[in-house]
Amino acid sequence: MTQELIAFVGVVGETFTRNVPISIALAVVFTVLTWFSACNPGRPWWHKRDLITDLCYWLFIPVITRFLRIGLLIAVAALVMGITTSEGLVAFYENGHGPLAALPLAVQGVIFLIGQDIILYWTHRWFHGQRFWKYHAVHHSSEELEWISAARFHPINLFLGSVMADVVMLFAGISPNVFVVLGPLTIAHSAFVHANLDWTLGPFKYVIASPVFHRWHHTAAERGGEKNFAATFPILDVLFGTFYMPAGELPDRYGIADRSFPQTFGAQLVHPFTR
Ligand SMILES: [Zn+2]
Ligand SMILES: [Zn+2]
Repeated sequence: MTQELIAFVGVVGETFTRNVPISIALAVVFTVLTWFSACNPGRPWWHKRDLITDLCYWLFIPVITRFLRIGLLIAVAALVMGITTSEGLVAFYENGHGPLAALPLAVQGVIFLIGQDIILYWTHRWFHGQRFWKYHAVHHSSEELEWISAARFHPINLFLGSVMADVVMLFAGISPNVFVVLGPLTIAHSAFVHANLDWTLGPFKYVIASPVFHRWHHTAAERGGEKNFAATFPILDVLFGTFYMPAGELPDRYGIADRSFPQTFGAQLVHPFTR
């Protein structure tokens, strides 16, 4: 038991220390960029009303994600492949498996990103439905949308969203080594699309999600929300008829209609189970 506890603390510590330098770099970069190109002028991100809430998510969500991902990888391997030993798990996942693992790592990375984004597009739309909105409302509850709002996700949303998408791709055979590069890139891009920037990326707006693209997603339905579901590739929204970036207009006013929605980390975690 003591050994498991030490291993657990080790994983938590390692996740923290890996994410701290990335977080500091993102804070500096987005502070400077927002100074010059804010989408919505106003107070800086460190004066955000619910900064503590966002910091809690920013610190703990990578740890929660990591454990949820490991748990689901083990469960899927056991249920579908009958693999129950640690040696079997390592052999199955360590460097991928099957035809996908035979491809160059860069190609696997591209396949991973595309496959993951298609899954995330549909799970995201699913979370906007009546049944699962209570979990996804946490992500939309940020009224002062900033780069640090990016990690604000309820664990159920994470589990049935990005964790499930990752596991599907790893189970299909993609090597987890793609995370070495894609892990930090995904964190940076997620922070980027939530950053308070007026960047549309011009002609590349269909190629890669921009801050303006995703900030529209965070507005109310009548203002343009319920659009732009793609995490990385807006072409998915073009294909499925949900792309929305009106020319010459910038999004404003974010958040959800429920004025009684809690604003603290702990209260938001339990909120979906309270009714
Ligand atoms: Zn959403
Ligand atoms: Zn968002």
